[in-house]
Amino acid sequence: MTINYFDAHSHLNFSQFDGDREECIKEMQEAGIWTITVGTDKKTSEEAVLLAEQYRNIYATIGIHPTDVATELWDGEFFSTLVRHPKVVAIGECGLDCFRISPEDTTTKTQQRELFEAQIAFAHIHELPLMIHGRPSKGTMDAYEDILEVLNEQKEFLREKDAGDVHFFAGTSRIAEDFLSRGFAISFDGPITFTDEYNEAIRVVPQDMLLAETDSPFAAPAPFRGKRNQPAYVAHIIKTLADIRGEDTEEVRQATVRNTKRVFAIKEGE
Ligand SMILES: [Zn+2]
Repeated sequence: MTINYFDAHSHLNFSQFDGDREECIKEMQEAGIWTITVGTDKKTSEEAVLLAEQYRNIYATIGIHPTDVATELWDGEFFSTLVRHPKVVAIGECGLDCFRISPEDTTTKTQQRELFEAQIAFAHIHELPLMIHGRPSKGTMDAYEDILEVLNEQKEFLREKDAGDVHFFAGTSRIAEDFLSRGFAISFDGPITFTDEYNEAIRVVPQDMLLAETDSPFAAPAPFRGKRNQPAYVAHIIKTLADIRGEDTEEVRQATVRNTKRVFAIKEGE
């Protein structure tokens, strides 16, 4: 099965796909679309692994999303069992999310940071890259700056090359450069097809550190804006990336497949 497109981050495990998951995956297989399906808590991590086991064109990540900190604690025993599956290619999505918490809520911030640190240590033990989620509060870069601070403190636990992916990147070009200097790839999503806010950041990422993702079912690209997103739409994101960077779409398509395979040590499709 050739890999025509690699959607580096999706949630085919989420309930929005309950009605037509198999159909979606069948269409993906026919079009040569592969994806990494991402866990955000214990249940969805387990489901991601099950999907990866069932379908050749699906890989999985396992971890706990920072906004789940109120309901879930890190469970090393549970994840130690799950991580043994050979199609688990990263830990996360993990990171910090300031979007829905008030700046004064230091309790939640501390909990999120501890949860993130636990996953950095776990990824280090299992020699896996990180799938990083960062979402700043409106008009700031706070979550990204805090993540960079944590990464700085945990430097000895990070891989120098292919440390992971900063998923759904929505930061400045300076923030992108900071992550790149720490060995992280950067992935972009649907919003780049309808806002030029991220153009500068898109242009500073070297071609070999650029990934494309849908984060489906969320954030569908134009012309599907507002509808449920799906991995097949990654082609629209790749076309937009190429246009913004002044590069050939075919070249960017090939680069994103190659980069996703390298960052997540995926040996298929050769
Ligand atoms: Zn996600």
